[in-house]
This record gives sequence, C-alpha cells and structure tokens, in this order.
Amino acid sequence: MNNPQYYDTHKVAIIGSGFVGTSLAYALMIQGSVSEILLIDINKKRAKGEAMDLHHGLSFVQPTRIWAGEYSDCADADIVVLTAGLPRKPGESRLDLVTKNIEIFQQIIPNIIEHNQDCIFIVATNPVDIMTYVTLKLSQCPASRVIGAGTILDTARFRYLIGQHHRVDPRDVHAYIIGEHGDSEVPVFSLATIAGMRLKDYCKRVEQLFDPQHLNDIFEQVKNAGRNIIELKGRTNYAIGLGLTRIVESIIRDENSILTVSSLLENYHGINDVCLSVPTIINRAGIREAIILPLNDEEHQKFHHSAKIVKDVIQSLNL
Ligand code: NAD
Repeated sequence: MNNPQYYDTHKVAIIGSGFVGTSLAYALMIQGSVSEILLIDINKKRAKGEAMDLHHGLSFVQPTRIWAGEYSDCADADIVVLTAGLPRKPGESRLDLVTKNIEIFQQIIPNIIEHNQDCIFIVATNPVDIMTYVTLKLSQCPASRVIGAGTILDTARFRYLIGQHHRVDPRDVHAYIIGEHGDSEVPVFSLATIAGMRLKDYCKRVEQLFDPQHLNDIFEQVKNAGRNIIELKGRTNYAIGLGLTRIVESIIRDENSILTVSSLLENYHGINDVCLSVPTIINRAGIREAIILPLNDEEHQKFHHSAKIVKDVIQSLNL
C-alpha cells in the first residue's frame, strides 16, 4: 500500500531566480521533491527564461509543474524560499550586504503576506541570520515558521572535509558548525563523532593520528570556503541549492531531521532574541525545537561572541 502522505501535493515558491534560486529549483526538480515550483523575480524575463529551461528537462524527471508567476500566485504555497538580493562580491563580507538586502525584503515580504499568511519561510539571502530576523519582523509570523539556511552549508563543508581526512563518507560524520553563518561561526569539535565515537577515540580505534591542529586547519577551510569559491567562480550556488532542498524535504515529509538552521533563539545558553544556527529539529510545522548542546567552555564563549556580533547588527537596525 502506498503511503498517501508521499503523494500529497506540495508547492514551493522561490523568490529570486538567480544562481541560488535556480540551483534550488533544479535540485527540487531532479529529486522529485515537490509537485509545483513557482519562480518569482523582479526581473520577470529571467524568471520566465529559467522556467522554460527547466521545462525542457521534465521528460527526464518526475512530473513537476514549474512556472514563473506573480506574488498572488504564492497564495497556496506551502513554503516560500527567499533567495532574492545581492550576492557578495569578491572582498565583501556577508554583513556588508545588510542595508541593500533589507530594502529588497521590505518590498517582497508584504507582497507575500498579503496573499499567504500560513506558509513557512526559508531564508537564504545573506547575511542570512540578520535576514531571518528581518523576515520574522516583517512577516509577523510565529518563529516556528521562519527558518534561515544558517550554517547548513558550513556544516556540510565541515563534514565533507572531516570525511575526506578520515576517508569516510561525510554522511557518517556527525559534526556541527553553529552560530553566525559568517566569520564568527563556531565548530563544535567536542561533540564531533564518527561511528558513534568522538574523533579522538575513533582515531585511536582505527590507528590514525589524531591531530588537533589539523582540525583547526579544516575549520579555517570551512570558514573561508565561501570567500575562496567567490574568488574562483564569482558565487556559490550548487551546495546551497542542495542544502535548501534538504530543508524543504524535512518539512514536507515531516522528517524531524536535525539540521543546523538559523532560527529565533530564546533562552539558549542565556542567549535571547537573535537568529543563529544550532542543531534544530525540522518537521511539517517548521522548527520543532532548537537542541541545547552541552558545549565546552571555549565553545560556549565563542558562541556568545558570535551571538553578540549578530545582535549588535540587529540592534543597530532599529527594526
Ligand atoms: P543572483 O544575483 O544570481 O540572484 C539574485 C536574484 O534576486 C536576481 O535574479 C535578482 O533579479 C533578484 N532580485 C533582486 N531584487 C529583487 C526583488 N526586489 N524582488 C524579487 N527579486 C529580486 O544572486 P545569488 O547568487 O542567487 O545569491 C542570492 C542570495 O543568496 C545572496 O544574498 C547570496 O549572498 C545568498 N547566498 C546565501 C547562501 C547561504 O548559505 N545562505 C549561499 C550562497 C548565496
């Protein structure tokens, strides 16, 4: 007997048909994750052209309705993904984008809320923790329905590099990057595991050298990955497209998956009223719970520092 839930129709609206928005649409289409993908962009020609290009792949994948539309077409969307905005240029930090991207969100979010007050928002636009907070304020939605991509990508990079180093599949590495999606992000080495063992114990068990300095080098690579890729190709888009797909699937399949996404933290290691990433349970309702990690003293202090950086920007914005 088929699981009827699997055949539910699910509509995702993607605002911004640039590199990130279309990488998400392409990944969703290939995965057969949803029944309908709506593309919206201020540049209507771009959205229409991207939809047409995707249509011509539909004979190779599962049926999906893909089209370019208007904000009124968001009325029955289950999920709205915000990717519109300016990307970083070489040499810019994510925080440099804040004023321009807030102005863009001030145009977009009221248009969505006018037609749909029940959707779940996923925010990709940078600086993503600030933009997640801005989305909460502009939409007035419950915090459980506003999810930032946060450090989902940084965590994926971290797992990939640890997996490469130990020659194991990154899906078998459990390790998290928490805090800001940016320079103050925090690697939680104390809780990183492979095959259920802390990295030090795993190395001992498989007779590999455990080198804390090498772990720090891995973290530096993670932290600088976005900057380095932008220097090389001008943008990052494929991995974030897959990360956003993972969040969408956790919602529509009611998976209760644990992902490092950004959400409004309240009473988290004494931190309040700021959006930051920590391992978070995601299901059909959006955010079920941010898991309070048993951080060591150094991680705790770095996490507080990261929160302060994001909070100082939020407070300077007078939202
Ligand atoms: P892009 O320039 O290719 O696409 C942005 C799109 O937004 C453009 O098509 C533009 O026309 C559209 N847009 C601008 N203003 C709009 C408005 N008012 N209404 C509707 N559409 C509007 O940029 P990109 O490479 O796709 O990056 C998009 C955002 O995603 C950037 O802020 C970037 O920094 C961010 N990003 C986030 C992550 C992450 O991990 N969270 C990773 C990569 C990129």
